[in-house]
Amino acid sequence: MYLNDFDLRQLASRNLEALSVAEKDQLLGKLVSDLIEARERLQANSQNSSRPPSSDPPWSGPRRETSPAEGEAEARLEGEEVAASDTEAGGLPAESTPVKPAAERRKAGRQPGAPGHSRTVIGPVTATLVHVPESCAVCGGALRSEAFVARTGLYVLDLKTEPDEGLRGLTIIQHKHVYGECRCAGCGHVTRTEPARSPADPRWKVDLSEWCCVGPRLLSLIVCLSLRMRLSRRGIQEFLHDWFDLGLSTSTIHRCLHEAGRAVEPLEQTVVEEVQQAALAYADETPWKEWGHLLWLWVITTPTVSLYLIGYRTAELIENALGIDFSGWLMSDGYRVYRRFHQRLRCWAHLLRKAQGLKDSLTREASTFGAAALALLDDAMAAVYAAREGPPGESLTDRFRARLDAFRTLCERHQFSRHEKTRALAVEFLNDWEAVWIVLSHPYLPLTNNEAERALRHWVILRRICHGTRTPEGSRALALLASVIETCRKRNHLPWPYLAQVIAERRKGHPAPPLPAVA
Ligand SMILES: [Zn+2]
Repeated sequence: MYLNDFDLRQLASRNLEALSVAEKDQLLGKLVSDLIEARERLQANSQNSSRPPSSDPPWSGPRRETSPAEGEAEARLEGEEVAASDTEAGGLPAESTPVKPAAERRKAGRQPGAPGHSRTVIGPVTATLVHVPESCAVCGGALRSEAFVARTGLYVLDLKTEPDEGLRGLTIIQHKHVYGECRCAGCGHVTRTEPARSPADPRWKVDLSEWCCVGPRLLSLIVCLSLRMRLSRRGIQEFLHDWFDLGLSTSTIHRCLHEAGRAVEPLEQTVVEEVQQAALAYADETPWKEWGHLLWLWVITTPTVSLYLIGYRTAELIENALGIDFSGWLMSDGYRVYRRFHQRLRCWAHLLRKAQGLKDSLTREASTFGAAALALLDDAMAAVYAAREGPPGESLTDRFRARLDAFRTLCERHQFSRHEKTRALAVEFLNDWEAVWIVLSHPYLPLTNNEAERALRHWVILRRICHGTRTPEGSRALALLASVIETCRKRNHLPWPYLAQVIAERRKGHPAPPLPAVA
């Protein structure tokens, strides 16, 4: 690099007309060389430099094939925020690469011809449970257990509920379930018992059934290892093998996670209803990969409930989740789909960061505007904090009226600025003027969207480890489980025993037990 920040700051405010043609040529040569070097640094990613793949922005890579209308709508809606986040991540969005049609891609998991595996570790049987039918299915007469003929058996691994006397910890038990039939002495009808099964659901490929070697509490542990401890399928397999001598295949573990997702699905309706009735909700979204395709993980969170959804970054999604007539306060960032809600709050943390960025800019216009925005936000924030502490005094809106009017004029002057980020911030303030400053009239309302960002943070780390999900069913299961787990945690309720209870009931075809009340 020929020119450093100190040189550029001077050049930005200097009249270059004074330079001779030769001097200008020399300067131009340096500028072009610096620009090329800067551009190359900006385009560095894991494919062309020593940067790790985790530093690549999540939206790089192939895109899902969408219908033209869908793709257009998505591109239109993504525009501003993706562009803004590119620079934060320090990379440029990668060129879209064509995605092979599904038929041509290698299927995940075992390939045809590869040797199969079955469960090899059969530990001691803790108890044998014989499921004898109690009464005749036709005449209702009592059946004699002596007439029972065993037809089929099932070994189920599970966690012991009560820890041993004086000992804490996990104990694996193995129950042998025996199912069979009895002939009625009265009418001669044969009544059979078999593991319970939830009726088929066209939206799910995975079965929800007791016909599974993993019991509900062990399944709940697997969900915990996967989604809270962020272990891969192989990691869970290794853990169960090394600590419990359990030989579960990765496909069984995978199937269990989908089954848990299907089991909690009916609870989503309750979560959605509670979100829609909230007095204050925080919303945010982050990129999510579904086998390389770019989708978004959305969260809408309130003090007692969290709703997660994986889908496109469209207005329809947030409208369906919140309801278009949502009447509570909605805290969000500047993404435009949120603008359709009436009682909106803007996160000041984003604005403060952007104002600070402008203040540090080498361009004088940007740094002056950034400093003005930062000073106003800082003073207003201090006043809001003071108002929360003290007794209700004069209205902050009145106190700041003159400064807000002056700042609005400043924004209007900069909304056509040639400096891109100055223009963007000025336009952002003007677009969301009410949403940004409404907090001055209601100082008890939050200033930042930290609640939603915290609710996403865990899942962003998971995304970096597992690179997202692979199928729509996997995405759905993950979002459903995330909603239930985080809602339980918000209510100071341990999610895992509750999840085991939901799985046990749903496997029997019963409704899911209601979400735990706020503790
Ligand atoms: Zn009978």
